[in-house]
Amino acid sequence: MSQTIEQQTARPLTTLSEEEEMFRASVREFAMGELRPRVEEMDEQGKLDPALVRQCFELGLMGIETPEEYGGAGGSFFTAIIAVEELSRVDPSVGVFVDVQNTLVNNALLRWGTDEQKRRYLSQLASSRVGAYALSEAGSGSDAFALATRALERGDHFLLNGRKLWITNGNEAEIFIVFANAKPEEGYRGITAFIVEKGFEGFSVGKKENKLGIRASSTTELILEDCRVPKENVLGEVGKGYKVSIETLNEGRIGIGAQMIGIARGALQSALAYTAEREQFGKTVNEFQGVQFQLAEMATELEAARLMVYNAARLKDAHLPFVKEAAMAKLTSSRAAEAIASRAIELYGGYGFVKDYPVEKFWRDSKIGAIYEGTSNMQLQTIAKLLISGKRPFVV
Ligand SMILES: Cc1cc2nc3c(=O)[nH]c(=O)nc-3n(C[C@H](O)[C@H](O)[C@H](O)COP(=O)(O)OP(=O)(O)OC[C@H]3O[C@@H](n4cnc5c(N)ncnc54)[C@H](O)[C@@H]3O)c2cc1C
Repeated sequence: MSQTIEQQTARPLTTLSEEEEMFRASVREFAMGELRPRVEEMDEQGKLDPALVRQCFELGLMGIETPEEYGGAGGSFFTAIIAVEELSRVDPSVGVFVDVQNTLVNNALLRWGTDEQKRRYLSQLASSRVGAYALSEAGSGSDAFALATRALERGDHFLLNGRKLWITNGNEAEIFIVFANAKPEEGYRGITAFIVEKGFEGFSVGKKENKLGIRASSTTELILEDCRVPKENVLGEVGKGYKVSIETLNEGRIGIGAQMIGIARGALQSALAYTAEREQFGKTVNEFQGVQFQLAEMATELEAARLMVYNAARLKDAHLPFVKEAAMAKLTSSRAAEAIASRAIELYGGYGFVKDYPVEKFWRDSKIGAIYEGTSNMQLQTIAKLLISGKRPFVV
């Protein structure tokens, strides 16, 4: 049987299938039509428009990988990455809103949930309820397993006590994956993941952070005071929470990479348009070779980051090892986003420094890429560990 050209040659990383292309077009249409007009106001007010949250559900963006039997879109991890990239090109706050739901919350449930948990929670998360992922605390960030939240076993339930900090989607979420230690004497082997509903006794949402960037994305404290969680809401096994967190964050990191390349694209696109219009010395500024070279550098950095993010996502979908590639992709893409947005500000001159134009926001929004889901130093640590462990020899 003769093969099509696509079958004969390996598909380039940036060439999307027809289905992926259609999905990208629909997210782009939503981002440009519904999101774009609201970006500045949401940034100013530090709040997502509830109408947009509803639309994200209606468009199927909140359960991209969730199987159709639970009301999801049954897509691949790569399609979730496309959604985060496209949304972040317009507003990285909405990008991370969708990212956390898909790559952390749904992902953890898909991988670790019992049939009953999947039936109950994945369907709600695909249709109407926002999720959040609560690992960090005031005293434990990079050293996440030093968490101080405790879970006491009490017959048919656990009582959770502690405070979580920096929780994305904290204001909108109704379903939280919360990590607490049920056996502190066993160290990290006591860490356990729980599915906590907003309405559970003893659970409340605390202070909301006033941030430099991704301001419309809510970042809150969570307060657990004798929070009563039924035993059937343990996600995975008691004492296996460390595995749940490592494995979900390994994947989630690729989503942050997608957010970062979205930012970089938004900034580069703005810079290309502006430099084609702005005139100095009787010419548009993009006629100066100095400016052209800067645009070329930006495009090249973006392309490199994008290939790394796409490759990590494709590796994950292919069930191949991807942890090192995901860490490299997040590290590179967060650096690229910050550098490209910074250069875009300079190419706008004074106009880049004011809020009437989009590039100062892209720069503010880029900074978080080097911090959450593992700081850049922690990505370097992961890459170095895998390089020298000899588990997967690195061919140089
Ligand atoms: C806007 C925002 C949203 C967030 N969303 C969430 C969320 O939804 N859920 C959640 O659980 N968490 C969330 N976080 C928390 C985030 O993951 C942590 O802030 C991050 O992991 C860093 O932890 P830290 O802030 O405690 O910094 P620290 O761990 O105190 O790090 C301080 C500095 O020390 C460096 N450092 C620490 N240890 C080492 C080491 N061993 N080697 C070299 N350098 C080291 C770090 O790289 C960093 O530069 C969010 C944070 C922010 C700001």
